[in-house]
Amino acid sequence: MDSKGTADPRDGAHHEMSAHEVVLLLETDPQRGLGGDEATRRRDRYGPNVLPTAGGPGVLRRILGQFHHPLIYVLLAATAVTAALREYVDSAVIFGVVLINATVGFVQESRAEAALDSLRSMVRTGARVIRDGETRSVGSEELVPGDLVELEPGGKVPADLRVVHSGGLRVDESALTGESVPVSKDEAELPDVTPVSDRRNMAYSGTLVTAGGGRGIVVATGARTELGQIHRLVGSAEALATPLTRKLGWFSKVLTISILLLSAATFGVGTLRGQEPVETFTAAVALAVGAIPEGLPAAVTITLAIGVTRMARRRAVVRRLPAIETLGSTTVVCSDKTGTLTENQMTVRAVWTLDGEYAVTGSGYAPDGELTDQERRRVTAATSKSLERCLLAGAGCNDACLGRRDGEWVLTGDPTEAAMLVVATKGGLGHDDVVRRYPRSETIPFSSERQYMATLHHDRDTGRPFGLVKGSVERIVAMSDAAMRADGSLDPLDDKRILRAAEDLAGRGLRVLATAERPPGVTRAFGEDELPGTLVFTGLQAMLDPPRAAAASAVEACHSAGIRVKMITGDHAATASAIATQLKVLGTDQCDRVLTGAELRDLPDGRFAEVVEETAVFARVSPEQKLRLVEALQGRGHVVAVTGDGVNDAPALRQADIGVAMARSGTEVAKEAADMVLTDDDFATIEAAVEEGRGVFDNLTKFLVWTLPTNLGEGLVVLVAIVLGATLPLLPTQILWINMTTAVFLGLMLAFEPKEAGLMRRPPRDPARPLLTRPLIVRVFLVAALLVAGASWIFHWEQQTGQPVAEARTAALNLFVVVEIFYLFSCRTLSRPVWRTGLMSNRWILLGVLAQAAGQLAITYVPVMNRIFGTAPLSGGAWLRILAVSAAAALVVAVDKRLRRHLV
Ligand code: ADP
Ligand code: MG
Repeated sequence: MDSKGTADPRDGAHHEMSAHEVVLLLETDPQRGLGGDEATRRRDRYGPNVLPTAGGPGVLRRILGQFHHPLIYVLLAATAVTAALREYVDSAVIFGVVLINATVGFVQESRAEAALDSLRSMVRTGARVIRDGETRSVGSEELVPGDLVELEPGGKVPADLRVVHSGGLRVDESALTGESVPVSKDEAELPDVTPVSDRRNMAYSGTLVTAGGGRGIVVATGARTELGQIHRLVGSAEALATPLTRKLGWFSKVLTISILLLSAATFGVGTLRGQEPVETFTAAVALAVGAIPEGLPAAVTITLAIGVTRMARRRAVVRRLPAIETLGSTTVVCSDKTGTLTENQMTVRAVWTLDGEYAVTGSGYAPDGELTDQERRRVTAATSKSLERCLLAGAGCNDACLGRRDGEWVLTGDPTEAAMLVVATKGGLGHDDVVRRYPRSETIPFSSERQYMATLHHDRDTGRPFGLVKGSVERIVAMSDAAMRADGSLDPLDDKRILRAAEDLAGRGLRVLATAERPPGVTRAFGEDELPGTLVFTGLQAMLDPPRAAAASAVEACHSAGIRVKMITGDHAATASAIATQLKVLGTDQCDRVLTGAELRDLPDGRFAEVVEETAVFARVSPEQKLRLVEALQGRGHVVAVTGDGVNDAPALRQADIGVAMARSGTEVAKEAADMVLTDDDFATIEAAVEEGRGVFDNLTKFLVWTLPTNLGEGLVVLVAIVLGATLPLLPTQILWINMTTAVFLGLMLAFEPKEAGLMRRPPRDPARPLLTRPLIVRVFLVAALLVAGASWIFHWEQQTGQPVAEARTAALNLFVVVEIFYLFSCRTLSRPVWRTGLMSNRWILLGVLAQAAGQLAITYVPVMNRIFGTAPLSGGAWLRILAVSAAAALVVAVDKRLRRHLV
């Protein structure tokens, strides 16, 4: 059966069926899911669950798009007119240029887009599917109709699902409906007329789970999903556009139109003056093709695309292109602590109970090591009741899972929880035993707002239910009213003592969690509101999470680049400060405050922004406060990069100038909201991305500064000749030659220019600063003037010494190119002397220059080329004059650079 495109008999209005009917229709099992074999069979039949990639504009349309430029219209008109005038060679050359231009544009655009596409696929979506009764994680492309899928908060819905179970499932369907308020989902069947946006029993591919969880049966995959159908309608609308490319596009459009008007005026005036129409027309065309910067938009796009690829190589995937431009202007980076500045490799180092502190040996997730008391005697769960219950809370109130693979311990789940499993094992409480003896019946999951997790268990031996809780010390202490001693007896809660002990552990840079339990006797319901006042504090567990190796130097690099680094964490202030001090986030410049979320809340509005600016560490901060922090910093003129991983971080990520999400630990919701995703979750990658962002901007500026004088110079040369009524020093075909070859062989190579040394010792770029500062604009005019003067002089010299006009023109043409080559080397750095760049540091430039030189020899000496372009072989003396003039021009540029290097 044909699976692609045609309707499947199982297609239907699944929302109007009951969950049971859907199960029957799709021949699946609502508990065990599909069998593995059946899944394979269906995958062969329906294909992978991916959106068709050829959804963008078709190849033909993209090729035609290359001709949709005012300049091309001019050239096409010129082709037609020259052909009508029987100037067939010129006509063919001009048309050839049009074709080459279109081909180059098409190839480069396709390559840039392919690069972006492959980046997008680097951030893959996973899914949790139940097959043969077992839950496993698969790539979302593996899903087939009939699969039973589990949804978790923060995840992306991987296919179109009929919801069969909802535990408070709420979904953000804005990707589909544009409506950003999350919609609650349930299982109930609906009338058939219900529109897609109201089908509360369906979860659609590409939408995001903002809260709760649930299960659904896949009813459509790939192109057959609602998203797939929209995708087909609009194609990939995301173009390679950024504010900068748009601005430059606008600039070149305005320029083009003005130049066209000027050319038309030239033609009109010339004709009125009674000049020869063919010659006047030629001059007008020369003016147009010379002065219009046709390569500009393409070069900008390519430079950006190269920047994106370079960043990806350094593990920062850019999701929205404007981010590259903004990155270079970043003045503040607000980073998470756990996992970004630290390894997120937790090892419990100490356990504290009312009867003392125990040290823990061993590191990593291997359960090798032991607990010892102050006298260095070995202790286990059997030694002390409070120690046992503390370890039990850590191991029982836990969703992580440790397993062995290839001799190494690998974890699934939260490292904080994994560490608590490991220490329990070291203390004699194996995970399997815990699960068997105390089966769990209810869970209040951990969330950053709640700061604790609680579970309800059954004791197999006594048959009585009891609760286990773990979380931040402040929360646990606030909910407890007693504390357990080693012999199992209860003391009234001495919260000061416990907080002091926690403070002490945190001061050593350890992450501290408290444990508690709800004794069997409590009759109240097991819920969030019923927990406070019922708990017995059992102990503290303190874990080490070492700072990332590269983080300290990355923080330092940020500081010297004028970027402030702020740590935002949900962790304890003392732990955060200790880590921040190690990484020198704290204790360097004028901003060295530590604030907690509670202190932030109490700040008067008027002082908020100011205090935030002076603070380096924000501890116990909720995601909502993150948003306020970002807004406050932006209000003080900062360009802010913010990291985040949870569902609730999305608003802050969106508000930030650069939202940064983590590929490994981040939720789909966070990734979707971010401008950039770090594939290694590492803080150092942010710094690398900023550096690349600055490099891209530099290279764009270099290209502009290099390319504009050529256009200006060519335009002026022609204009002067027209105004003086003199012979044209360059023919239109020659100007086309210069523009096309130098743009491709010379200018484009600047996009490959490596980052300049000292890039990260400059202050951030002011976003309001124009692309070309005044000294650079002056340089553009200076070089243009040198080009005009040099070309005019050499043209006249050759003519004066009796050379035919073809040779004089060839000399002028070569002068243009040689000056451009010299100037190209100058543009490799905008403020430093040329020789400081290192000749071999950009081989592309050398290759380009060689290619260009070969081209110049060809156009000067090859007879066919002479005939086509109206050139003629040059004498050695002419070359000497060309080189001398070019060297003089280069010298003038070098002096200008030297004199005004501080201004750039
Ligand atoms: P961060 O990621 O910035 O360290 P979190 O919001 O993850 O901050 O954690 C805040 C606090 O919540 C931690 O200091 C810890 O006390 C507690 N906590 C963290 N993870 C868990 C968990 N899995 N279960 C219970 N409590 C936790
Ligand atoms: Mg965390």
